[in-house]
Amino acid sequence: MIKVFILGSKCNMSCKFCMSVERDLEKEVVVDNLLKMNPGDLAVFAGGEPLLYPNLGDFLKIAKSRGLRTKIHTNGVLLNRVNFLDLIDIVNLPLDGPKFVHDAMRANGHFDIVMDAFKKLSKQFTITTALTKKNIEYIDEIVKIINKLAERRNILNWKIFKFKSKGRGSKYKDEFEISDEDFLSAINVAKAKSNIKIYAITDPDAMKTEVIRKL
Ligand code: SF4
Repeated sequence: MIKVFILGSKCNMSCKFCMSVERDLEKEVVVDNLLKMNPGDLAVFAGGEPLLYPNLGDFLKIAKSRGLRTKIHTNGVLLNRVNFLDLIDIVNLPLDGPKFVHDAMRANGHFDIVMDAFKKLSKQFTITTALTKKNIEYIDEIVKIINKLAERRNILNWKIFKFKSKGRGSKYKDEFEISDEDFLSAINVAKAKSNIKIYAITDPDAMKTEVIRKL
């Protein structure tokens, strides 16, 4: 079983294409759900930025005490400031393009932060890409970067999301949104050239995992 806990929308970045809309989850809701999971199940903590949530360390301790596998979806900025990294099995990091494209979509210097996290952490990784008008023409280059990373890091899969106009991103539909056809063409290019498993996601709300969130 996989449960994704969306702890809230709080984040230390302000990407224009952000689709996050959730309110903060109560601690009791997270703990109750963790206690219903079985050894070997995967507990995923996402946001917003999950490392901003002060109870995350406690949630991870509970998860590990129950034999769960754990994963965080982080932008990577705070990874070197937390003391519970050993409780995390899988780290999901964002990669939206080569450095100048990624930094233009997110923040100056962020590409290097992500690359540093790949370099320094001994973890299993997954990668997410938000595909938009800003980066779709660089899909080849994104594949090359990920294939190179996969030569030396354990990358389990790559999820490519089609930008959907919601949350902060709802104000920037025209700037970011691509057509379904363009999305599928880019996915075909990525699948033909990638050495790792790809999931193409047009509607994050339709994923087959149990998502614990507060809207
Ligand atoms: S896209 Fe991710 S890193 Fe960017 S503001 Fe939203 S939650 Fe934060």
